[in-house]
Amino acid sequence: MTSKFFNLENSYLSLSNQFYAHSAPTPASQPKLLAWNEALAKDFGLLQSNFSDKEKALYFTGSDIIPGSTPVSLAYAGHQFGRFVATLGDGRAHLLGDFISPDGKRYDIQLKGSGITPFSRNGDGKSALGPVLREYLVSEAMHAMGIPTTRALAAASTGEFVFRDTPKPGAVFTRVAPSHIRVGTFEYFAARGDTDSLQKLLLFAAARHFPELPANPTLPLAFLQAVVRQQADLIAQWMSVGFIHGVMNTDNTAVGGFTIDFGPCAFMDEYNSNKVFSFIDKQGRYAYSRQPLMAQWNLARLAQALLCLSQENTNEVATLCEQEVQKFSELYEAAWLKRMAAKIGIMSPISEDAALIKQWLSFVENGSLDFTLSFRVLANMLFSNNTTDGAAIAETAATIGTLETSGAGNKNDSHDLCYSLPQNNGWHDFRQKWYHRVLKQNLPLAAIAEKMNSVNPLYIPRNHILEAVISEATEGNFSLFQTMQEILLTPYNEKPQYLKFSQAPTPQQRVLNTFCGT
Ligand code: AMP
Ligand code: MG
Repeated sequence: MTSKFFNLENSYLSLSNQFYAHSAPTPASQPKLLAWNEALAKDFGLLQSNFSDKEKALYFTGSDIIPGSTPVSLAYAGHQFGRFVATLGDGRAHLLGDFISPDGKRYDIQLKGSGITPFSRNGDGKSALGPVLREYLVSEAMHAMGIPTTRALAAASTGEFVFRDTPKPGAVFTRVAPSHIRVGTFEYFAARGDTDSLQKLLLFAAARHFPELPANPTLPLAFLQAVVRQQADLIAQWMSVGFIHGVMNTDNTAVGGFTIDFGPCAFMDEYNSNKVFSFIDKQGRYAYSRQPLMAQWNLARLAQALLCLSQENTNEVATLCEQEVQKFSELYEAAWLKRMAAKIGIMSPISEDAALIKQWLSFVENGSLDFTLSFRVLANMLFSNNTTDGAAIAETAATIGTLETSGAGNKNDSHDLCYSLPQNNGWHDFRQKWYHRVLKQNLPLAAIAEKMNSVNPLYIPRNHILEAVISEATEGNFSLFQTMQEILLTPYNEKPQYLKFSQAPTPQQRVLNTFCGT
């Protein structure tokens, strides 16, 4: 059955009922639309008729069910901080259905915070307003930076309070995702020894995400290989923008290679490779620098689950699976080199460039410089020297020298980093090598700088700004939320009127911890 609104189907219903539980969202007492992503709706061909904000509020709090939708909550397991939990599932989410977008791909629409489900365990099935606005802004910012992610379609308040440390306004988040299949979905069936369901899941997930793979006995390995490749690129992209997911559990790892489940995630301000924001990540399991390792660990869990499908040659198949997981390191290194080299102005990197990137990063880290802005400053140094003439090196070096002495560079000044880099041995040594490497490309320096600025965001959803957005919204004022939506749409473009949103936090503004908020 299709709806006039979305042509909504629910392909999960073609799977057996071990995969999901029928579950109706809890109607909200006073549904109110807070945000509607019109551009996304248009891109995905979701709006076929005009609907009022009131109708959208009803649909996107789950108070009215979109015609054609059969809401379900999906089953999955997961390794949470390394510990296996055999039954998790959507404890506060309802999958309304899926649709085919104009690009020919199928996407899910899911409500999050829409009430108790059969998987709620001790939870209330609700979301507070803060995490809803945070996921809205961060997921759209990721998309604007070209990083694969679930998307924000709507946010709506319920008019009710949810009880966390204090009562908070309740809200529902609507996301659009290429699927909601997680590594933990595979683990769910593997843990139960339900190989029939596991095989069905594999066929379903492969058809959704990798339709080019032939559905023959090589599928488990080919699927693993495809997931490994996408994860390697995804994590390299996270690293390149200083993104810390915070809860990289296997239930928060989508097999479709996109970012999912924005809980205590954060973008780093000052660069610290061991940075952890999440209050619950006491051991630093998901610290910034550990994300590639943890992604690989999660992929090993997927491999283990897929191994349950093989009856013969188990040792041989196990070795093949292990090899696929091991390939992550090499794929990740290559993806990281490509992304990070572009950030420092190297268009076609060779493996030796990794050392230069690492040197730059250690300079940034040792000076506790702002991760995001440091790359913009680097590009700025090339703008005024639009030449490939080797003789201009000295002149450029002199210009860099002036920029260096303009005063910033210690921790307390890092919010001023728009303007300068600290002058010290680390900088001089790096600058020399970097400048020669960049010049070797025989491109005008301004063109290189422009390319750098097209991959180095100026605006990211900084923690201290998100906190201000949430605290104002909790008081009923959504103007900062709207401003941030607008700014984050074009993260690379300078916006003089919004300069302060690009700046690093002052020591007083700095956010030390983030919370799941569930
Ligand atoms: P998350 O930390 O959001 O990835 O969630 C981990 C697990 O806890 C998932 O199974 C969620 O569905 C469940 N969960 C999180 N918050 C709630 C809540 N408020 N009520 C019920 N279940 C929840
Ligand atoms: Mg989750």
